[in-house]
Amino acid sequence: MQQPEKNQPQPDMMDKMVSLCKRRGFIFQSSEIYGGLAATWDYGPLGAELKRNLKEAWWRSNVYERDDIEGLDCAILMRSEAWMASGHVSNFEDTLVDCKSCNKRFKVENVTGKKCPECDGELTEPRQFNMMLKTHLGPIEDSTSLTYLRPETAQGIFVNFKNVVDSMRRRVPFGIAQMGKSFRNEVTTKSFTFRSREFEQMEIEFFVKPGTDEGWYSKWVEERFNWYVKLGLKRDNLRMRQHEKHELAHYAKACTDIEYQFPFGWSELEGIANRTDFDLTQHGRLSGKDMEFFDDATNERYIPYVIEPSGGIDRSILAFLFDAYREEKVRDEKRVVLGLHNSLAPLKAAVLPLLRNRPEIVEMAHKITDDLKKEAKVRYDDTASIGRLYRRQDEIGTPYCITVDVDSLTDNKVTVRDRDTMKQDRISLSKIKEYVVERLK
Ligand code: ATP
Repeated sequence: MQQPEKNQPQPDMMDKMVSLCKRRGFIFQSSEIYGGLAATWDYGPLGAELKRNLKEAWWRSNVYERDDIEGLDCAILMRSEAWMASGHVSNFEDTLVDCKSCNKRFKVENVTGKKCPECDGELTEPRQFNMMLKTHLGPIEDSTSLTYLRPETAQGIFVNFKNVVDSMRRRVPFGIAQMGKSFRNEVTTKSFTFRSREFEQMEIEFFVKPGTDEGWYSKWVEERFNWYVKLGLKRDNLRMRQHEKHELAHYAKACTDIEYQFPFGWSELEGIANRTDFDLTQHGRLSGKDMEFFDDATNERYIPYVIEPSGGIDRSILAFLFDAYREEKVRDEKRVVLGLHNSLAPLKAAVLPLLRNRPEIVEMAHKITDDLKKEAKVRYDDTASIGRLYRRQDEIGTPYCITVDVDSLTDNKVTVRDRDTMKQDRISLSKIKEYVVERLK
């Protein structure tokens, strides 16, 4: 076996990935039979598994393995006041252009020509600053029934801050984690799932005492960077980029993006922002409710500062797919492998009968499949020759292939092939479950 080529992004990688995702059931264009709906995507059978696994990994490491975070699952629809408080509504009618060089934003009516009035740089296409999707609730469509599909999951967390403090007896510092759909009427929608109009976010709002915010901010930047590395992204393909002052959102004191080297360049996977007390103060103001936290140990009352690690599930999936993809030459044949981390792989094992016309072999393979099913997502497959079946599993990232052959009938052993090394182990039937489960941890 030759060494795999270094996984440097290549220009044609995008086409290869889009094709693999469709061919193997990871990601399909939404409403494809009608010509497709721009910037919306459907996760196929394997994509749905990959997404579940990624979400599970995030929830486990933040909500289960830490003592200072609670989970939440808010409605997508909220009262319009929430979006007024957050600042999302106030800029609704502004159509803006961004300068690609100095990143300054201008109202489109203040710009003449196609160059930046400040630095002469190239401008983006005009876009509405406010990208919220609108809808109406109830039978009458007027301004009173107007509401929005949330453009971020964060605000649902802020409005529930007091509910969580009171119901869970939480004290600052602590965080609230939420995953779910968000919607933005994006103008630029290229780059596959990277910029979608409907997407999923994984967000934490971590509430801290003012004055301790900078320390927590640095901890979270490091923590979130390491999470991606632990799940298999190559360190070389990741970097942190601190925002310059002029790039910061109006509410943020500091922000660092974790960027991934996609085939189309370095781009944001997740942003970690110090949002100060902006959101809680705003919601306090508009709702008239007290958003202060009372620390009964010190008798202090304050509005907590917030550190927000905010990542995109779809963008992460795309990064994990690109990062895992490799092509190798094995005995002069191309082998495509998705070297996904075991915890992310859609199928954990495939059970393959070497001869599908031998009922005893088929029966044994089915029995192994049924037994493993209780532990992990596994698949029985006898629809091609063993070589083809291995290639198929390599391409979708299945870590283990279990093959039942003629000898299995007498020695009660099967062959387990490792996706990455292609090494084969002969394992006793009674040990197979333990062997696979142990390696999936
Ligand atoms: P960008 O600058 O790329 O538009 P953003 O800074 O507006 O992103 P945030 O508002 O910080 O993004 O959202 C947090 C995370 O949500 C992003 O890091 C990204 O992973 C994800 N995200 C935001 N917009 C989209 C989108 N249109 N499609 C997919 N994921 C998105």
